[in-house]
Amino acid sequence: MASSRRPLIAGNWKMNGLRQDGVARAKDLAARAGKAAPKCEVILCPPAILVQTVAEAVKDGSVAVGGQDCHAKASGAHTGDISAAMLADAGARYVIVGHSERRAAHHESDGDVRAKAQAAHGAGLVAIVCVGESEAQRDAGQALPVVEAQVAGSVPDGATPKTTVVAYEPIWAIGTGRTPTIEQIAEVHGAIRKALAKRHGGETGFRILYGGSVKASNAKSILALDDVDGALVGGASLDAAEFWGIVESC
Ligand code: PEP
Repeated sequence: MASSRRPLIAGNWKMNGLRQDGVARAKDLAARAGKAAPKCEVILCPPAILVQTVAEAVKDGSVAVGGQDCHAKASGAHTGDISAAMLADAGARYVIVGHSERRAAHHESDGDVRAKAQAAHGAGLVAIVCVGESEAQRDAGQALPVVEAQVAGSVPDGATPKTTVVAYEPIWAIGTGRTPTIEQIAEVHGAIRKALAKRHGGETGFRILYGGSVKASNAKSILALDDVDGALVGGASLDAAEFWGIVESC
């Protein structure tokens, strides 16, 4: 973790929990984080219907809230969808776009993800753009080209470190308890940083998160890498103590 970039630990609750659990977990974390911002930024991404409730539960502290997805359009006939402005209006400051579960289950292409990131920027949200290879792609020696192509296709022109965070999440590591080796994480993060720097005028300030089976017990070695600026955490973010253990590894 380079000192010039403020680390970010984001919890992706996915489709888990009802109001009572969500508020209790959010308040627990807000109490641990306190009013003064801890060494790293902490954000919670609850299901869309809980964004406003969770934002209210943490409003007096240092924890921020994000959505898990947004539509690319600002409004219109998109039954069941949520716009970036609606998330911002509910109290979100971030939104995850292009999570592999959405790329797979909702057939989202890099172009779709880029449009969502642009919509997020338009609404004043920071887009957390997810990329990551499948196990078959890694086994075929294609991890780097796959991830580089996803970054090129999913991060919009004009993205800056203030508006955009990239999350490297190898699909085969999500929810499986398996993680790449430290060397593999370092290699992919280095390649993402190089690609971002080349395209965005030598800018090296982008935060690049690692995601995939991060727990309190493995966070320290992953977060110690120079090009890892935080973590996107799924399963372990549903347990406040475990999630806080990851925050403390910063
Ligand atoms: C995720 O889905 O973004 C994720 C990283 O999940 P997990 O931590 O459970 O692997």
